[in-house]
Amino acid sequence: MTTSPTWHDRAASLALDGRAFINGQRVASASGETFDKHSPIDGRRLGAMARGQAADVDAAVLAARAAFDDGRWARQPPAARKKVLQRFAEAILAHRDELALLETLDMGKPIRFARTVDVPATARTIAWYAEAIDKVYDEIAPTGPNALAMITREPMGVIGCIVPWNYPMIMAAWKLGPALATGNSVVMKPSEKSPLTALRLAEIAVEAGLPPGVFNVVPGFGHEAGEALALHMEVDAIGFTGSTRTGRRMLDYAGRSNLKRVYNELGGKSAFLVFPDHKDPARAARTVAESLFFNQGESCNAPSRVLVHEAIADDFVAEVRAQMPAWQPADPLDERTTMGALVDEGQLRTVLGYIDAGRAEGATCHGGAQARAETGGFYVEPTVFDHATNAMRIAREEIFGPVMAVIRFGTEEDAVRIANDSPYGLQASVWSHDLDRAHRVARALRAGTVHVNQYDEDDITVPFGGFKQSGNGRDKSLHALEKYTELKTTWLRIDGA
Ligand code: NAD
Repeated sequence: MTTSPTWHDRAASLALDGRAFINGQRVASASGETFDKHSPIDGRRLGAMARGQAADVDAAVLAARAAFDDGRWARQPPAARKKVLQRFAEAILAHRDELALLETLDMGKPIRFARTVDVPATARTIAWYAEAIDKVYDEIAPTGPNALAMITREPMGVIGCIVPWNYPMIMAAWKLGPALATGNSVVMKPSEKSPLTALRLAEIAVEAGLPPGVFNVVPGFGHEAGEALALHMEVDAIGFTGSTRTGRRMLDYAGRSNLKRVYNELGGKSAFLVFPDHKDPARAARTVAESLFFNQGESCNAPSRVLVHEAIADDFVAEVRAQMPAWQPADPLDERTTMGALVDEGQLRTVLGYIDAGRAEGATCHGGAQARAETGGFYVEPTVFDHATNAMRIAREEIFGPVMAVIRFGTEEDAVRIANDSPYGLQASVWSHDLDRAHRVARALRAGTVHVNQYDEDDITVPFGGFKQSGNGRDKSLHALEKYTELKTTWLRIDGA
């Protein structure tokens, strides 16, 4: 009798190719330099990645520019681009196990979620933009009889995509879907912490029929490959997802180079407001635990500030704590695991540092210990701080780990004031069965997405992005097409009308 290989067996036999993908081919970096990629699961070395620098970015941008200028993709009819992108989406699903394993090894998320969330969401994003692109019409302006004014959207050219490590494939797809569907060429710089799936996606795309040069991937560090891409004079727009700190740099790079468009999708410190009139506070507690602890708390929209009315706060915190055993960190390659490893040792130190800060500032800590250190990987228990205030660092700064700050409030006005007292404005949630209150508070919250009596309902059909320092663009939905197209007006004179 043969037994099917475990995820560990498959990981052990994986042969990784860390070279860049430029003009349809795998290539070493121009300098020949590499950097080592280790897995956060157990610290083991996965392989050597090409250390992309200015010369590699230049080669990728020139390939993308040549592909754009000769129209091999941009001038294909939308229905033809649709077919290629549909095949790309199907191929992503066909490589489901391989891509899920790469994602888990690279950044530590549980294999069950990499398989059931990340890969299908990536494929769906590409398929959705493929389906959309031959159904989008341009406009004719209501001018007088002697003229015709057409308002059309044209692809921009070369799009630089700089993406983070927390959902490497999904973040890549949120850029790739609309950028490729509208006919652009792309140069992608994945995070140095999670370069593996972007490289495989590019290979799979070419196998599915995307012309060489249209989608290039240059692995490397932010201050090298990332900076070179964002400063490049032949890049027309940057689609950036990452920290607010790096987002500021993107604007600076654009100012110092060619004023390329910059679309920033940045950090968050999302507030989750629970009012005493909600009929099922236990469901609210389960939802906030699941939404925060999912992906090890490494989600930009994690509801990390939980505002609870003082009359129900004790019961609410008890219910959240009752969820914590279900989110204890375990082996990411075990299909039962719900919480995996933090992305690297630096992130582990950052998260533990915030936990120390929360204790020192006087909040009551539940959980908060490092876990599974004997594996050589980077794990932290789910952590809940009760009796936090909005002035504490754990409430003001994005931690990007499984750490929740519970703040108690007395009145609706207080709750809204505290929720909005943040430099961020990505998402928020209000829990109330008072219809007027739910609408009133949802309107008052300064966030790109507000959930009512739920959290993390998500679909490619709706925009995703933030107010304030959470960014200036919107990924997902048809609105994302605007980011990768220029608006053109063409006037025609009509004689004898
Ligand atoms: P990061 O800003 O450190 O890095 C993001 C990307 O920018 C990486 O590819 C990195 O190499 C590159 N980079 C870093 N420094 C650079 C520089 N000086 N010049 C050019 N490029 C540079 O962010 P991260 O730690 O990878 O990701 C976590 C952040 O991403 C969190 O703040 C999270 O909230 C945010 N995020 C936002 C969204 C959203 O849609 N709003 C989604 C996911 C993650």
